[in-house]
Amino acid sequence: MKDHILIKNLEFYAHHGVYEYETREGQRFIVSARLFTGLSDSGESDRLEETVHYGQVSEFLVSFLTEHTYKLLEKAVQSCMEAVMLEFPLLDGIELTLQKPDAPIELEFETVAVTRTMYRHTAYIGLGSNMGDRQALIRAALQAVQQHPLCRVREVSDLIETEPYGGVPQDNFLNGAAEVETLMEPARFLAFLQKLEKEAGRVRTVKWGPRTLDLDILLFDDLIMGTRDLILPHPDMENREFVLQPMAQIAGFVRHPVSKKTMQQLLDELKSRQ
Ligand code: ATP
Ligand code: CA
Ligand code: CA
Repeated sequence: MKDHILIKNLEFYAHHGVYEYETREGQRFIVSARLFTGLSDSGESDRLEETVHYGQVSEFLVSFLTEHTYKLLEKAVQSCMEAVMLEFPLLDGIELTLQKPDAPIELEFETVAVTRTMYRHTAYIGLGSNMGDRQALIRAALQAVQQHPLCRVREVSDLIETEPYGGVPQDNFLNGAAEVETLMEPARFLAFLQKLEKEAGRVRTVKWGPRTLDLDILLFDDLIMGTRDLILPHPDMENREFVLQPMAQIAGFVRHPVSKKTMQQLLDELKSRQ
């Protein structure tokens, strides 16, 4: 397992539960957390500012879980993880376990617990538009990403004018790429981007046809995956200058996890093939 700080079995009293008497009377809860963070800097320097302060995290966990009330442990854990990750930017990830040792079950048992994890990810998204006020549509989408509590836009490329791709006759595109830090997992992140496309008035008619807004996930950490709904890295990115040009600008040294080539290399190779 990666470097982490462990907070083990922190006890407190709170009011989570499905039954009315649970929310009214409250009961004992126990929380544990693994805090994933690079420990080599603080391991060298012995400086508190370079690490995540487990005392502060412990207090934050207990305050959060006593000030809020949830029916389900799952929801309590999820909301608490999000809050911790937002409060402590040095954290790369967290594994949180919430136990309810006196849960209302008429059997002999030691405890019930829910464990979930959350990580900070780096995603690169491709931006495209060839209908309406293209620039305004792309800017509005980036603003909506920035405004989502679980996302932060770290870098945006220049927007470039490009010829349509894929053979359907249509207006020129404006294309770009952005680096986004997100606490969402890939499926949720894609659903969020698709919601933004929809809000921009996108209708899917012809494949590779005109659109107000196209948001593709190009890279998601070093993740390689393929499901019906999501392929990562974006399968055709190495053949698209309108993707590689902006990527080379904001992420020239980032490597494609399959070919291991940098974005700049992929762009140079594509240009020399053409
Ligand atoms: P292309 O993906 O070749 O650029 P497109 O952007 O025109 O084409 P869309 O109609 O926007 O294609 O998306 C079709 C489907 O592609 C989406 O419904 C989505 O489920 C799927 N998809 C698979 N991988 C990705 C990805 N990495 N990013 C975005 N969508 C993806
Ligand atoms: Ca696309
Ligand atoms: Ca798309």
